[in-house]
Amino acid sequence: MPPETRATVQIGQYQFVTYITEEQIRHRVAELGARLNHDYAGRTPLMLVILNGAFMFAADLIRELTMAPEIEFVRISTYGDSMTSSENAQVLLGLEIEVDGRDVIIVEDIVDTGYTTQYLQEYLEQQGPASVRLVTLLFKPDNFKGGTPPDYVGFDIPPAFVVGYGLDYAQRGRELRCIYQQV
Ligand code: IMP
Repeated sequence: MPPETRATVQIGQYQFVTYITEEQIRHRVAELGARLNHDYAGRTPLMLVILNGAFMFAADLIRELTMAPEIEFVRISTYGDSMTSSENAQVLLGLEIEVDGRDVIIVEDIVDTGYTTQYLQEYLEQQGPASVRLVTLLFKPDNFKGGTPPDYVGFDIPPAFVVGYGLDYAQRGRELRCIYQQV
């Protein structure tokens, strides 16, 4: 079995087991793409992809789209090497496009507490967009602390830490094709 599809992976002192397979991801991403195609038919949404974690999800999701979106990549301060979220001040980098009057779709890998996306949602709302919606591959509803919940969710998952398919622990595990959960 190639290393990227192993049932267990070790990162540092932590062990992770396969939780969502490549096939399940592919199927769900196609469904999310179909929903966006329906909801944004005939429009040119601005997709704001939050780096680094959402790069793989965004690449697959965007290839499902039949409308012609504009795509921009932004960064927001993240976890560092920790496995817990924080309410630390957030900084937005990389947004160089006017969002005034645009239909904005935020693309995120995972919404945990929701602080990261809440910050971006509130920032964007002040810029006069036509609409702002959030699509996330993973959502941890038990950890969500408020703000506007995601409009499109790939998978609701329990609070356990996950890696793979773009998501990292201490910058490792992003290359994995499946999503792995900490044991
Ligand atoms: P939030 O602000 O608590 O919603 O956290 C969002 C960010 O935390 C995500 O963009 C991820 O970078 C990171 N994060 C939250 N949970 C996990 C996880 O289980 N694995 C990897 N990163 C995570």
